[in-house]
Amino acid sequence: MIQSVIDLLNNPELSREDIIRLLSITERTEHEQLIKHAYYIKEQTIGRNVYLRGLIEFSNYCKKNCLYCGIRCGNTKVNRYTMTDDEILETVEFAVENRFTGIVLQSGEQQSDEFTERITNLITKIKQATHPEFRFTLSLGEQSFETYKAWFDAGAQRYLLRIETSNEELYRKIHPDNKLHDFKTRLRCLEDILKVGFQTGTGVMIGLPFQTIENLAEDLLFLKKMNIDMVGMGPYLEHADTPLYEHKNSLMPLNDRFNLSLRMIAVLRILMPNINIASTTALQSIVPMGREYGLKAGANVLMPNLTPGKYRGNYLLYDNKPCIDEEADDCIDCLSNRVQMIGEEIAYDNFGDSKHYKKRQRSN
Ligand code: SAM
Ligand code: SF4
Repeated sequence: MIQSVIDLLNNPELSREDIIRLLSITERTEHEQLIKHAYYIKEQTIGRNVYLRGLIEFSNYCKKNCLYCGIRCGNTKVNRYTMTDDEILETVEFAVENRFTGIVLQSGEQQSDEFTERITNLITKIKQATHPEFRFTLSLGEQSFETYKAWFDAGAQRYLLRIETSNEELYRKIHPDNKLHDFKTRLRCLEDILKVGFQTGTGVMIGLPFQTIENLAEDLLFLKKMNIDMVGMGPYLEHADTPLYEHKNSLMPLNDRFNLSLRMIAVLRILMPNINIASTTALQSIVPMGREYGLKAGANVLMPNLTPGKYRGNYLLYDNKPCIDEEADDCIDCLSNRVQMIGEEIAYDNFGDSKHYKKRQRSN
Protein backbone atom coordinates (compact mmCIF):
# COMPACT_ATOMS: atom_id res chain seq x y z
CA MET A 1 0.00 0.00 0.00
CA ILE A 2 1.33 3.50 -0.86
CA GLN A 3 1.81 5.50 2.35
CA SER A 4 0.17 8.91 2.57
CA VAL A 5 2.46 11.93 2.50
CA ILE A 6 1.28 12.94 5.99
CA ASP A 7 2.27 9.53 7.38
CA LEU A 8 5.66 9.80 5.74
CA LEU A 9 6.24 13.29 7.10
CA ASN A 10 5.49 12.12 10.63
CA ASN A 11 8.26 9.56 10.38
CA PRO A 12 11.56 11.21 11.40
CA GLU A 13 13.76 8.82 9.39
CA LEU A 14 13.11 8.84 5.65
CA SER A 15 14.31 5.79 3.72
CA ARG A 16 15.47 5.80 0.08
CA GLU A 17 12.00 4.55 -0.91
CA ASP A 18 10.26 7.24 1.15
CA ILE A 19 12.36 9.90 -0.56
CA ILE A 20 11.55 8.51 -4.00
CA ARG A 21 7.87 8.61 -3.09
CA LEU A 22 8.11 12.26 -1.97
CA LEU A 23 10.09 13.37 -5.00
CA SER A 24 7.59 11.61 -7.28
CA ILE A 25 4.55 13.50 -5.96
CA THR A 26 2.30 14.70 -8.77
CA GLU A 27 -0.77 15.76 -6.81
CA ARG A 28 -0.97 19.45 -5.87
CA THR A 29 -2.24 18.88 -2.30
CA GLU A 30 0.52 16.39 -1.53
CA HIS A 31 3.14 18.72 -3.00
CA GLU A 32 1.88 21.51 -0.76
CA GLN A 33 1.80 19.27 2.34
CA LEU A 34 5.48 18.46 1.79
CA ILE A 35 6.49 22.08 1.17
CA LYS A 36 4.56 23.31 4.23
CA HIS A 37 6.13 20.69 6.46
CA ALA A 38 9.66 21.53 5.28
CA TYR A 39 9.00 25.25 5.84
CA TYR A 40 7.76 24.49 9.35
CA ILE A 41 11.01 22.65 10.11
CA LYS A 42 13.04 25.54 8.70
CA GLU A 43 11.08 28.03 10.81
CA GLN A 44 11.59 25.95 13.98
CA THR A 45 15.33 25.52 13.38
CA ILE A 46 16.46 28.75 11.75
CA GLY A 47 13.51 31.10 12.19
CA ARG A 48 12.12 33.36 9.51
CA ASN A 49 15.60 34.57 8.66
CA VAL A 50 17.16 34.81 5.25
CA TYR A 51 20.95 35.11 5.11
CA LEU A 52 22.49 37.13 2.30
CA ARG A 53 25.80 36.58 0.52
CA GLY A 54 26.86 38.83 -2.35
CA LEU A 55 27.88 36.85 -5.40
CA ILE A 56 30.86 38.15 -7.39
CA GLU A 57 31.48 36.23 -10.61
CA PHE A 58 34.95 37.68 -11.01
CA SER A 59 36.25 35.68 -13.99
CA ASN A 60 34.83 33.44 -16.69
CA TYR A 61 38.16 31.92 -17.73
CA CYS A 62 37.86 28.18 -17.30
CA LYS A 63 40.14 25.31 -18.21
CA LYS A 64 37.29 22.80 -18.09
CA ASN A 65 34.73 21.80 -20.62
CA CYS A 66 31.71 20.51 -18.65
CA LEU A 67 29.10 19.50 -21.22
CA TYR A 68 26.30 21.56 -19.62
CA CYS A 69 28.00 24.88 -18.90
CA GLY A 70 27.83 28.00 -21.08
CA ILE A 71 31.29 29.27 -20.06
CA ARG A 72 33.09 25.96 -20.77
CA CYS A 73 36.45 26.56 -22.43
CA GLY A 74 35.19 25.05 -25.69
CA ASN A 75 32.59 27.80 -26.14
CA THR A 76 34.44 30.24 -28.39
CA LYS A 77 31.51 32.68 -28.46
CA VAL A 78 32.22 33.79 -24.88
CA ASN A 79 34.10 37.06 -24.29
CA ARG A 80 36.49 36.19 -21.52
CA TYR A 81 37.08 38.63 -18.62
CA THR A 82 38.73 38.84 -15.24
CA MET A 83 37.87 41.62 -12.81
CA THR A 84 40.84 43.51 -11.36
CA ASP A 85 41.50 43.50 -7.62
CA ASP A 86 40.32 47.12 -7.50
CA GLU A 87 37.04 46.24 -9.22
CA ILE A 88 36.51 43.38 -6.78
CA LEU A 89 37.29 45.64 -3.82
CA GLU A 90 34.82 48.25 -5.08
CA THR A 91 32.14 45.56 -5.33
CA VAL A 92 32.94 44.41 -1.79
CA GLU A 93 32.64 48.03 -0.61
CA PHE A 94 29.17 48.13 -2.15
CA ALA A 95 28.32 44.88 -0.35
CA VAL A 96 29.45 46.27 3.01
CA GLU A 97 27.49 49.52 2.47
CA ASN A 98 24.43 47.38 1.90
CA ARG A 99 25.04 45.47 5.16
CA PHE A 100 26.26 42.25 3.63
CA THR A 101 28.49 40.31 6.02
CA GLY A 102 30.13 38.21 3.36
CA ILE A 103 30.62 37.47 -0.30
CA VAL A 104 30.86 34.49 -2.60
CA LEU A 105 33.84 34.66 -4.93
CA GLN A 106 33.11 32.51 -7.96
CA SER A 107 34.89 31.89 -11.26
CA GLY A 108 35.63 29.32 -13.90
CA GLU A 109 38.23 26.79 -12.87
CA GLN A 110 41.81 27.98 -12.92
CA GLN A 111 44.69 26.15 -11.28
CA SER A 112 48.12 27.70 -10.98
CA ASP A 113 50.47 29.02 -8.33
CA GLU A 114 49.68 32.55 -9.52
CA PHE A 115 45.94 31.98 -9.13
CA THR A 116 46.38 30.49 -5.64
CA GLU A 117 48.51 33.46 -4.64
CA ARG A 118 46.16 36.02 -6.15
CA ILE A 119 43.20 34.67 -4.18
CA THR A 120 45.25 34.40 -0.97
CA ASN A 121 46.32 38.05 -1.30
CA LEU A 122 42.82 39.15 -2.24
CA ILE A 123 41.36 37.57 0.91
CA THR A 124 43.93 39.42 3.03
CA LYS A 125 43.30 42.72 1.22
CA ILE A 126 39.52 42.46 1.58
CA LYS A 127 39.78 41.62 5.28
CA GLN A 128 42.00 44.65 5.83
CA ALA A 129 39.51 46.84 3.98
CA THR A 130 36.43 45.44 5.75
CA HIS A 131 36.52 43.46 8.97
CA PRO A 132 38.66 40.52 10.11
CA GLU A 133 35.48 38.44 10.47
CA PHE A 134 34.14 39.26 6.98
CA ARG A 135 32.89 35.98 5.52
CA PHE A 136 34.22 34.49 2.29
CA THR A 137 32.63 31.66 0.42
CA LEU A 138 34.92 30.45 -2.34
CA SER A 139 33.51 28.68 -5.39
CA LEU A 140 36.67 28.17 -7.41
CA GLY A 141 36.44 24.53 -8.37
CA GLU A 142 38.88 21.68 -7.90
CA GLN A 143 42.21 22.54 -6.28
CA SER A 144 44.97 20.74 -4.39
CA PHE A 145 44.71 20.18 -0.63
CA GLU A 146 47.54 22.73 -0.20
CA THR A 147 45.65 25.41 -2.12
CA TYR A 148 42.45 24.84 -0.13
CA LYS A 149 44.53 25.05 3.06
CA ALA A 150 46.28 28.26 1.94
CA TRP A 151 42.91 29.93 1.32
CA PHE A 152 41.48 28.66 4.60
CA ASP A 153 44.54 29.88 6.50
CA ALA A 154 44.24 33.27 4.77
CA GLY A 155 40.78 33.55 6.35
CA ALA A 156 38.19 32.14 3.92
CA GLN A 157 35.57 30.28 5.97
CA ARG A 158 33.36 28.51 3.42
CA TYR A 159 33.83 26.58 0.19
CA LEU A 160 31.22 25.55 -2.33
CA LEU A 161 31.93 22.71 -4.75
CA ARG A 162 28.91 21.00 -6.24
CA ILE A 163 29.28 17.29 -6.81
CA GLU A 164 26.78 17.92 -9.69
CA THR A 165 25.50 14.33 -9.36
CA SER A 166 26.55 11.68 -6.87
CA ASN A 167 26.10 8.97 -9.51
CA GLU A 168 29.45 8.23 -11.15
CA GLU A 169 27.92 6.86 -14.35
CA LEU A 170 25.75 9.96 -14.81
CA TYR A 171 28.73 12.19 -13.95
CA ARG A 172 30.61 10.60 -16.84
CA LYS A 173 27.72 11.30 -19.21
CA ILE A 174 27.68 15.03 -18.47
CA HIS A 175 31.44 15.57 -18.58
CA PRO A 176 34.14 14.92 -21.17
CA ASP A 177 35.87 11.60 -20.71
CA ASN A 178 39.31 12.73 -19.53
CA LYS A 179 41.40 13.21 -16.38
CA LEU A 180 40.35 16.81 -15.96
CA HIS A 181 36.74 15.74 -15.42
CA ASP A 182 37.08 12.79 -13.09
CA PHE A 183 34.37 11.91 -10.56
CA LYS A 184 36.90 10.51 -8.09
CA THR A 185 38.87 13.78 -8.15
CA ARG A 186 35.65 15.73 -7.52
CA LEU A 187 34.93 13.53 -4.51
CA ARG A 188 38.52 13.80 -3.25
CA CYS A 189 38.27 17.60 -3.46
CA LEU A 190 35.04 17.64 -1.48
CA GLU A 191 36.65 15.44 1.20
CA ASP A 192 39.71 17.74 1.28
CA ILE A 193 37.48 20.79 1.72
CA LEU A 194 35.83 19.12 4.72
CA LYS A 195 39.23 18.05 6.11
CA VAL A 196 40.73 21.53 5.79
CA GLY A 197 37.94 22.79 8.05
CA PHE A 198 35.75 24.88 5.73
CA GLN A 199 32.01 25.21 6.19
CA THR A 200 31.46 22.90 3.28
CA GLY A 201 28.85 23.28 0.60
CA THR A 202 27.94 21.09 -2.30
CA GLY A 203 24.91 20.37 -4.45
CA VAL A 204 23.52 18.89 -7.62
CA MET A 205 21.70 19.87 -10.78
CA ILE A 206 18.10 18.72 -11.04
CA GLY A 207 16.49 17.52 -14.26
CA LEU A 208 19.68 16.63 -16.13
CA PRO A 209 19.42 14.47 -19.24
CA PHE A 210 19.65 10.75 -18.27
CA GLN A 211 18.89 11.54 -14.60
CA THR A 212 16.27 9.49 -12.73
CA ILE A 213 14.28 10.16 -9.56
CA GLU A 214 16.30 7.34 -7.96
CA ASN A 215 19.52 9.25 -8.78
CA LEU A 216 18.11 12.34 -7.08
CA ALA A 217 16.99 10.41 -3.99
CA GLU A 218 20.51 9.01 -3.74
CA ASP A 219 21.93 12.52 -4.15
CA LEU A 220 20.01 13.60 -1.05
CA LEU A 221 21.28 10.59 0.90
CA PHE A 222 24.79 11.40 -0.33
CA LEU A 223 24.54 14.96 1.07
CA LYS A 224 23.45 13.53 4.41
CA LYS A 225 26.18 10.89 4.46
CA MET A 226 28.86 13.49 3.63
CA ASN A 227 27.59 15.52 6.59
CA ILE A 228 27.88 18.77 4.63
CA ASP A 229 26.99 22.17 6.07
CA MET A 230 25.51 24.02 3.11
CA VAL A 231 23.78 23.13 -0.14
CA GLY A 232 23.21 25.02 -3.37
CA MET A 233 21.18 23.01 -5.81
CA GLY A 234 18.81 23.96 -8.56
CA PRO A 235 17.36 23.02 -11.91
CA TYR A 236 19.63 22.16 -14.82
CA LEU A 237 18.92 24.67 -17.60
CA GLU A 238 20.03 24.23 -21.16
CA HIS A 239 22.49 26.46 -23.01
CA ALA A 240 22.34 26.37 -26.80
CA ASP A 241 26.14 26.39 -27.22
CA THR A 242 26.83 23.29 -25.16
CA PRO A 243 26.97 19.61 -26.13
CA LEU A 244 24.15 18.62 -23.73
CA TYR A 245 21.79 20.86 -25.68
CA GLU A 246 21.21 18.06 -28.17
CA HIS A 247 19.21 16.27 -25.45
CA LYS A 248 16.83 19.17 -24.90
CA ASN A 249 13.83 17.28 -26.25
CA SER A 250 14.26 14.51 -23.71
CA LEU A 251 14.18 16.88 -20.72
CA MET A 252 11.41 17.20 -18.19
CA PRO A 253 9.21 20.29 -18.90
CA LEU A 254 10.52 23.42 -17.15
CA ASN A 255 7.57 23.67 -14.81
CA ASP A 256 8.06 20.08 -13.62
CA ARG A 257 11.79 20.69 -13.20
CA PHE A 258 10.93 23.71 -11.06
CA ASN A 259 8.51 21.82 -8.81
CA LEU A 260 10.88 18.88 -8.50
CA SER A 261 13.62 21.31 -7.43
CA LEU A 262 11.31 22.65 -4.71
CA ARG A 263 10.61 19.10 -3.51
CA MET A 264 14.38 18.39 -3.46
CA ILE A 265 14.88 21.44 -1.21
CA ALA A 266 11.96 20.40 1.00
CA VAL A 267 13.11 16.81 1.48
CA LEU A 268 16.66 17.96 2.15
CA ARG A 269 15.40 20.35 4.85
CA ILE A 270 13.62 17.40 6.49
CA LEU A 271 16.74 15.23 6.27
CA MET A 272 19.15 17.95 7.45
CA PRO A 273 17.19 20.54 9.50
CA ASN A 274 20.12 22.74 10.55
CA ILE A 275 22.12 23.19 7.33
CA ASN A 276 22.13 26.31 5.17
CA ILE A 277 20.29 25.82 1.87
CA ALA A 278 20.53 28.39 -0.93
CA SER A 279 17.59 29.30 -3.10
CA THR A 280 19.33 29.56 -6.46
CA THR A 281 19.12 31.97 -9.38
CA ALA A 282 18.29 29.05 -11.67
CA LEU A 283 14.89 28.83 -9.92
CA GLN A 284 14.29 32.48 -10.78
CA SER A 285 15.09 31.76 -14.43
CA ILE A 286 12.02 29.55 -14.66
CA VAL A 287 9.60 31.51 -12.47
CA PRO A 288 10.19 35.22 -11.67
CA MET A 289 9.43 34.61 -7.96
CA GLY A 290 11.29 31.28 -8.07
CA ARG A 291 13.78 32.06 -5.33
CA GLU A 292 10.95 33.10 -2.98
CA TYR A 293 9.27 29.74 -3.66
CA GLY A 294 12.61 28.13 -2.77
CA LEU A 295 12.59 29.96 0.58
CA LYS A 296 9.03 28.79 1.23
CA ALA A 297 10.16 25.20 0.55
CA GLY A 298 12.85 25.33 3.25
CA ALA A 299 15.82 27.25 1.81
CA ASN A 300 17.30 30.07 3.94
CA VAL A 301 20.09 31.69 1.90
CA LEU A 302 20.03 34.11 -1.04
CA MET A 303 23.04 35.07 -3.09
CA PRO A 304 22.18 38.29 -4.95
CA ASN A 305 24.41 38.90 -7.91
CA LEU A 306 26.76 41.85 -7.29
CA THR A 307 28.86 41.31 -10.43
CA PRO A 308 29.16 44.67 -12.26
CA GLY A 309 26.58 44.91 -15.05
CA LYS A 310 29.21 45.14 -17.80
CA TYR A 311 30.43 41.59 -17.07
CA ARG A 312 27.14 39.81 -16.43
CA GLY A 313 26.36 39.04 -20.05
CA ASN A 314 29.62 37.08 -20.24
CA TYR A 315 28.83 34.75 -17.34
CA LEU A 316 25.93 32.90 -18.88
CA LEU A 317 25.94 29.36 -17.55
CA TYR A 318 22.55 28.73 -19.17
CA ASP A 319 20.12 30.54 -21.48
CA ASN A 320 17.74 33.18 -20.05
CA LYS A 321 19.81 33.88 -16.93
CA PRO A 322 17.87 36.63 -15.08
CA CYS A 323 18.99 40.18 -14.15
CA ILE A 324 21.84 40.35 -16.67
CA ASP A 325 20.81 43.89 -17.70
CA GLU A 326 20.84 45.11 -14.13
CA GLU A 327 23.36 46.57 -11.75
CA ALA A 328 23.74 45.38 -8.16
CA ASP A 329 21.66 48.31 -6.82
CA ASP A 330 18.56 47.19 -8.69
CA CYS A 331 18.89 43.65 -7.33
CA ILE A 332 19.24 44.70 -3.67
CA ASP A 333 16.22 47.03 -3.74
CA CYS A 334 13.86 44.51 -5.23
CA LEU A 335 15.14 41.71 -3.04
CA SER A 336 14.28 43.02 0.42
CA ASN A 337 10.72 43.84 -0.70
CA ARG A 338 10.27 40.40 -2.18
CA VAL A 339 11.54 38.67 0.96
CA GLN A 340 9.19 40.70 3.17
CA MET A 341 6.28 39.86 0.89
CA ILE A 342 6.61 36.18 1.81
CA GLY A 343 6.79 36.88 5.56
CA GLU A 344 10.55 36.42 5.91
CA GLU A 345 13.20 38.90 7.09
CA ILE A 346 16.66 39.46 5.73
CA ALA A 347 19.00 38.84 8.66
CA TYR A 348 21.17 41.90 8.00
CA ASP A 349 24.39 42.17 9.97
CA ASN A 350 24.24 38.45 10.75
CA PHE A 351 27.10 36.23 9.57
CA GLY A 352 24.61 33.45 8.98
CA ASP A 353 27.03 30.61 9.65
CA SER A 354 25.66 27.13 9.21
CA LYS A 355 24.29 25.84 12.52
CA HIS A 356 25.22 22.38 11.32
CA TYR A 357 28.86 23.46 11.01
CA LYS A 358 28.95 24.85 14.54
CA LYS A 359 27.54 21.59 15.88
CA ARG A 360 30.00 19.55 13.80
CA GLN A 361 32.89 21.63 15.20
CA ARG A 362 31.74 21.07 18.77
CA SER A 363 31.54 17.30 18.31
CA ASN A 364 35.02 17.02 16.69
N1 SAM B 1 33.85 26.52 -11.88
C1 SAM B 1 33.39 26.26 -10.58
C2 SAM B 1 32.76 24.88 -10.47
O1 SAM B 1 32.43 24.32 -11.48
O2 SAM B 1 32.64 24.42 -9.34
C3 SAM B 1 32.41 27.31 -10.07
C4 SAM B 1 31.58 28.00 -11.10
S1 SAM B 1 30.37 26.97 -11.91
C5 SAM B 1 29.78 28.02 -13.12
C6 SAM B 1 29.07 26.93 -10.66
C7 SAM B 1 27.96 25.95 -10.89
O3 SAM B 1 27.20 26.34 -12.00
C8 SAM B 1 28.35 24.53 -11.21
O4 SAM B 1 28.70 23.82 -10.05
C9 SAM B 1 27.10 23.99 -11.89
O5 SAM B 1 26.30 23.21 -11.03
C10 SAM B 1 26.33 25.27 -12.27
N2 SAM B 1 25.94 25.22 -13.70
C11 SAM B 1 26.75 25.24 -14.76
N3 SAM B 1 26.03 25.10 -15.89
C12 SAM B 1 24.73 24.99 -15.53
C13 SAM B 1 23.51 24.81 -16.25
N4 SAM B 1 23.49 24.70 -17.57
N5 SAM B 1 22.36 24.74 -15.54
C14 SAM B 1 22.36 24.86 -14.19
N6 SAM B 1 23.49 25.02 -13.46
C15 SAM B 1 24.67 25.09 -14.12
FE1 SF4 C 1 34.10 25.57 -15.79
FE2 SF4 C 1 32.62 25.35 -13.55
FE3 SF4 C 1 31.47 25.72 -15.98
FE4 SF4 C 1 32.62 23.37 -15.44
S1 SF4 C 1 30.82 24.26 -14.39
S2 SF4 C 1 32.88 24.55 -17.33
S3 SF4 C 1 34.33 24.03 -14.18
S4 SF4 C 1 32.78 27.13 -14.88
